[in-house]
Amino acid sequence: MHFDGEVMRIFQNAGLADKIANVARASSRGMHFVSGNGRTLMVRRGIDGPGPHGWAGNWYFHQPILEAVLRAGLRRFANVRVHLGHEVASVDDLDARYVVGCDGARSLVRQAVGSRHIDLGLHQPWLVVDLLCDPSSPRVKALPDYTVQLCDPARPMTVVNVGGERRRWEIMLMPGDDPARLTDPDIFWPMMARWLGPQDARLERAAVYTFHSVVQQGWRRGRLLLAGDACHQTPPFLGQGMCAGMRDAANLAWKLAAIVKDEAPDSLLDTYESERLPHVRTFIDLAVKLGAVLQETDPAAAAERDRRFEAGAEMFDFPQPQLGPGCRLDAPPPVGTIFPQPTLADGTPMDEAIGDRFAIVGDAALLDGSRTRAALLPDVGLEWLAMHDKRAAVLRPDRYVFGLADTRPELASILDATVRFQSRDGSRSGFKPA
Ligand SMILES: Cc1cc2nc3c(=O)[nH]c(=O)nc-3n(C[C@H](O)[C@H](O)[C@H](O)COP(=O)(O)OP(=O)(O)OC[C@H]3O[C@@H](n4cnc5c(N)ncnc54)[C@H](O)[C@@H]3O)c2cc1C
Repeated sequence: MHFDGEVMRIFQNAGLADKIANVARASSRGMHFVSGNGRTLMVRRGIDGPGPHGWAGNWYFHQPILEAVLRAGLRRFANVRVHLGHEVASVDDLDARYVVGCDGARSLVRQAVGSRHIDLGLHQPWLVVDLLCDPSSPRVKALPDYTVQLCDPARPMTVVNVGGERRRWEIMLMPGDDPARLTDPDIFWPMMARWLGPQDARLERAAVYTFHSVVQQGWRRGRLLLAGDACHQTPPFLGQGMCAGMRDAANLAWKLAAIVKDEAPDSLLDTYESERLPHVRTFIDLAVKLGAVLQETDPAAAAERDRRFEAGAEMFDFPQPQLGPGCRLDAPPPVGTIFPQPTLADGTPMDEAIGDRFAIVGDAALLDGSRTRAALLPDVGLEWLAMHDKRAAVLRPDRYVFGLADTRPELASILDATVRFQSRDGSRSGFKPA
């Protein structure tokens, strides 16, 4: 249902932002955790206007429509073959240079990689229901535009405005529920009484999912790699599971491209898991923590929890974690975090001006005379750099900060540090920044 502004930026870099913006709903609203008696406990803030990534901070979509846009987008590439309705039965050493298993929670490729499973403790079945709502119904009009996490110990629920007439309810299964009967009208509509009745909406789809919190250790074995739910699963309370998989893809894409063009050694892939695992863990840990608030079913404990928020709602934002150690300087954040996407003086979004390369942005006086194959963008990002008391940033092709400099020698030494991630003939390449 949801992706964030950073993921929209990944779609932008895949050349699909406009098409996706046409089928997704941008929202400036956040997510409210509300007690059974209607008090707001916590709010994940929304973002007004374009956020730091140059796009709205939150987007809502219907999965089959988004997937259709992504699949159509693949037709731009003559070297991509799509085989729908085929099952991979085994993976062995044939002629692919690399295999990326994005084959979900029950990944077959993961078995071949031999990853270690780490259970983070949350496993809970929920009923997931899409409703097509009658826009003329006063009760539909009265539904909140923000996402609601209803922390009612009698029946926790999530309510999301997906867009158009479609709204999503996620409803926690309680002891004694018969999953097969939950959508029977005499059981379903009484559960929905707080929101809608059968005259207001039509049930489009329903399924029971068990929400898991799991990470795998070992995302690579030789030429086999994992991405997405194959190597991590989060409960969906932050709407971040697919987002994490998209970030995996963005992290892998430029590394694989550099390696197959002989611009970087194969060992660059060893930075993939080391960078991504701590990053995704931050989101999963927060989702598990929020799940503990939302999924409290003991009335006394829920009342105690509600009292903790008597002084007012707690506000929070999506985390913006640092990548773990890898292809970056060994320095504290904001090194290893994603750089924002400012607009250049001529109105071009920064990422469009960079393309699939490293880039150096910042104080023109510092950048002047740099001998580099990276994109040089003088006087871009100065506001962000000033906030961090720096004058220039070296950005990787996925726009994560490789290093920050204050002086010319510092900038030169950062560019030297990129060299150890290059193959010997990387000097010919766009990967080599200097
Ligand atoms: C109720 C719910 C709500 C969610 N809401 C959000 C949200 O709002 N935002 C968000 O970011 N995330 C959300 N998520 C998480 C998100 O759905 C997953 O993280 C995401 O779908 C993972 O994508 P994936 O491609 O890694 O795996 P999957 O979506 O599981 O895709 C794997 C694919 O591989 C195929 N496959 C597997 N094995 C084989 C094989 N042997 N041969 C051929 N094909 C194979 C499968 O058929 C499947 O199509 C939600 C999850 C749930 C359950």
